[in-house]
This record gives sequence, structure tokens and C-alpha cells, in this order.
Amino acid sequence: MGAPEAFTATTDIGHWIAGQRTPGSGTRKQAVYNPATGAVARQVHLASEADVAAAVAAAKAAQPAWAEMPPIRRARVLNNFLALMNQHRDTLAAMVTAEHGKVFSDAQGEVMRGIDIIEFACGAPQLLKGDYTDQVSTGIDNWTLRQPLGVVAGITPFNFPCMVPCWMFPMALACGNAFVLKPSERDPSASIFMAELLKQAGLPDGVFSVVQGDKVAVDALLTHTDVKALSFVGSTPIAQYIYETGAHHGKRVQALGGAKNHMVVMPDADLEQAVDALIGSAYGSAGERCMAISVAVLVGDVADKIVPRLAERAKQLKIRNGMEADAEMGPIVTREARDRIEKYIGIGIEEGARLVVDGRGHKVAGFEGGFFTGGTLFDHVTPSMRIYKEEIFGPVLACVRAKDFTEALQLVNDHEYGNGVACFTTDGGVAREFSRRVQAGMVGINVPIPVPMAWHGFGGWKKSLFGDMHAYGEEGVRFYTKQKSVMQRWPSSTPKGAEFAMPTAK
Ligand code: NAD
Repeated sequence: MGAPEAFTATTDIGHWIAGQRTPGSGTRKQAVYNPATGAVARQVHLASEADVAAAVAAAKAAQPAWAEMPPIRRARVLNNFLALMNQHRDTLAAMVTAEHGKVFSDAQGEVMRGIDIIEFACGAPQLLKGDYTDQVSTGIDNWTLRQPLGVVAGITPFNFPCMVPCWMFPMALACGNAFVLKPSERDPSASIFMAELLKQAGLPDGVFSVVQGDKVAVDALLTHTDVKALSFVGSTPIAQYIYETGAHHGKRVQALGGAKNHMVVMPDADLEQAVDALIGSAYGSAGERCMAISVAVLVGDVADKIVPRLAERAKQLKIRNGMEADAEMGPIVTREARDRIEKYIGIGIEEGARLVVDGRGHKVAGFEGGFFTGGTLFDHVTPSMRIYKEEIFGPVLACVRAKDFTEALQLVNDHEYGNGVACFTTDGGVAREFSRRVQAGMVGINVPIPVPMAWHGFGGWKKSLFGDMHAYGEEGVRFYTKQKSVMQRWPSSTPKGAEFAMPTAK
């Protein structure tokens, strides 16, 4: 296979409404950068309220016919889409690398994990089939079915411009809803590319729309009476705002927020494996993953054994333009995000943590304008420090020392975030105890980034998720449908006269 082709289009990115591209009626635009060079690559149009209204109106008009279509026929459209996504997955991955900065192999992994969910959504007829009880009372049957909500919307973060939208719209569409996506304004191209593939797959116009934009577009979706449900993935303060405002406007909301994921390393763990896991999960995607490990909880004498090895490896990271074949870590998404991360490193030093590897000011030859920072490693971090408490969302690994398993577990459970967590051990009893007692939504035993597969569903606890249902999997089917129970008796059953007591099985 030859080298992957970089995504270099310079045309402005607009919206996708009623089955076509449109710049919309708004006049506002924002620059989209190539983070590896620091140059403006293209502009994205920012939707006005009228653009959102147009997308929702198109969705509302198209949804009833889509919902009437038998689920197997909807699944066939998704099956066509699946084939197209597989055909174009490297194009999509190059788009992700160009606007996000993550290395191409990582972008390929993101696209693949999105494709997994489309594949799962193709099985929706099975998931929607409901249940049936014959003879709940003499001559009476009762069954449940799940019906679509109508128009639903998704608001997604910059860090997975392909995969996170795929957590939402394939399931929503399979269930018979129309979907309006508001992707991140920092990497908008993947959304329009997927919209075009959906059209090629045979999706009727209006059933899937994209509105690019910022708070104006988000607020218009949050308050629109025809939007029945909102899925959000992003930072915790915005997740909380979306949850509260959406609920206030009578919508069903799932809002996935930020994280501070811990990896506990027990003294009996395979330390070589633990070092590999920490390096990959802390610095992969430059730490810009909601499942990145940002805290290593090193139990007993583990810290003295592995911190020097972590330091050596952090210094050797191959930090490059993400399209280069041997790149292990790319740039940060924007200059502001890079500066915020580097500011946190200064805060960590002031707070008294020991800076073992300083990634600040990292330069990549030939890409001097890029938003690069190196891998940073802190040791002797304590729970009262801001670099421990707050989400940095960059390649900064904080090592905390714990005397034993009980203290390590307490540390994890006391943290306000509860997205992913991992424990490295060779003791089955410890592993079992950890997975049962830990207060987090996704647990890895000797697996650093336990992102659940398409049919298991994704979601954190505590401040990492507002709402009660996780994304995708069967939880996705429940989120995007409402349950209806039908109880039937046919006139041929024996009439008994009016009943005034609560009916019971007879
Ligand atoms: P963000 O919260 O800044 O933005 C997310 C979305 O909200 C974007 O579409 C953005 O346009 C919109 N938005 C931003 N500010 C807004 C405002 N004031 N009002 C209304 N809408 C607003 O997040 P981000 O920087 O794009 O993504 C990184 C964050 O997402 C991190 O905190 C990360 O942990 C989190 N994340 C969480 C998960 C998860 O599954 N829990 C997954 C991926 C990312």
C-alpha cells in the first residue's frame, strides 16, 4: 500500500440541509486550521438560528415516511452506508488527521470504531422487535413496541469528528428518527463527507442534516420545540448546561462530559506491560481522548521501578505531522488548547509536583508553526493539586503514589469524574474487587482504554455523564425510542360487564 493521501481541500465547509450542501443564511465564518502547520486550511460557516430552523423543518418533514419504512429497509440503507464508509475510510481518516492532528493510524482506528457502530445499527430490526405475552389474562394479550421520537439532534466534540457522531446517528436513524448533527467547528469536514455518503446510500433527503456552528446553533437546537432528544458529548461544564437546558425545554437528554482517567498499577502487575499501556494511553492522540489515562496510581514500590522507564519513553516519543508513517503523537488541535496545556504544566510546578519530563516548547523540524507540545510527566502529584483534579486534555501524565490497594481505590472513587479506569494486576481477586467497587462507568483490567464495543454501550459516571442512558448499544435503542405497551382483547372474548377494581390476571 502506498502512502496515504493528505486532505488538502481549501473550499469552505457549509451545512447539509434537505440533502444538499448550503452555506446557509448566516454571515459568520470561522477558520479551520491544519494543526500540524498552524496554517488556516479552510473556513467553516457558522449556522444562524434560521439555518437550524431550516434543518429541523426538513427533518420534521422527512421523518414520518422514514419511520413508516419497515426497519429492515432502513437497515438496508445503513448497510449501503456501511459499505461506502468501508470503501472511503482512509479518505475520512486523512480528513480527521488534517483537522484534528491525530496520527493517521489513530484516525483509521477512530473511523473503524465508528464503522463498528454502523454495523451494529444494521441489526436494528432485531433490537426493535419488542416482546409479547400471550394470555396475560384470559383472552387478553400484551406486548411492547418501541417507536421513534421524531427529530433528534447530536452535538459532538472535536476529538472524534467521525466516531462520536457515529455513536449517535446510525442508531437514531435505524430506529426511525431524523437526525440533525452539530459537529465541532474545529474539525467540520468529516460530518459533510458522511452526509454525502448517506445520500449515496439511499437515505431520503432531510432525514440527516448537518448544521455547523457554535453556541448559536447549539442554543437553537436546545430550545427548538420540534427537537425531541439531544445527545451531547464534550466537556463537563457544557454537558451540564446542555442537560439542564434541554430538560427545561422538555427534551430527553444524554450528555457525556469530561474525564480524569486513572490507571492503578499494583506491585504484582506485569510492569513492562503497564509501562507500554501508560505510554500509549497517556500520549496517544496527544492525550486528547476522553478515555486517555491522565493519572497513574502507582501502588507500593511501583513508582520507583517505573517512573524512570516512563520518563525515558516519554522523551523518545516520535512527535510528527500525523500523516508521517512513523508518527506516534501529532500536534494539539489549536494554539489555544496547546497554550492551556502548557499553562497547566506551570501550575503543576508551582503546586510542588516533580516535573520529570517537560514537553513545553517542543518544536518539530519543518513544522515550526504547528501546535505541538511534547509528552509531559509529573511525579509526586497529590489529590489537592489542580493538575490532579482538573481535566487537562493533553499529553500530561500525573503519577500519584498510593501505599496499598485500598488507598488507590479510594483515590479513584473520591475523584469527581468517573469515565474510564484501569487496574493492572496479575491477581484475579484484586481485579474482581476493583471492578466491583470502583465508581466509574468503564473498567479495564490490564486494558488501559476500555472503550466498550458497539453492542455494549459507552458512558461514564459522576461528572462524566448527565442523564441516565449510555451511548450506542442497546442503550442507544432505548434512548432513541419510546416504549409503547399494547394490551388487546378481541370482542369474541366473553363480556364481563364494567370492572371497577384494578384488573388482575384471571
Ligand atoms: P466542548 O465542550 O468545548 O465542545 C463540545 C461541543 O459543544 C462542540 O460541538 C461545541 O461547538 C459545543 N459548545 C462549546 N461551547 C459551547 C457553549 N458555551 N454553549 C453551547 N455549546 C457549546 O468540548 P471539546 O473541546 O470539543 O471536546 C473535548 C471535551 O470533550 C473534553 O472535555 C473531553 O473529555 C470530552 N469528551 C468526552 C467524551 C465522553 O464520552 N465522555 C468523549 C469525547 C470527548
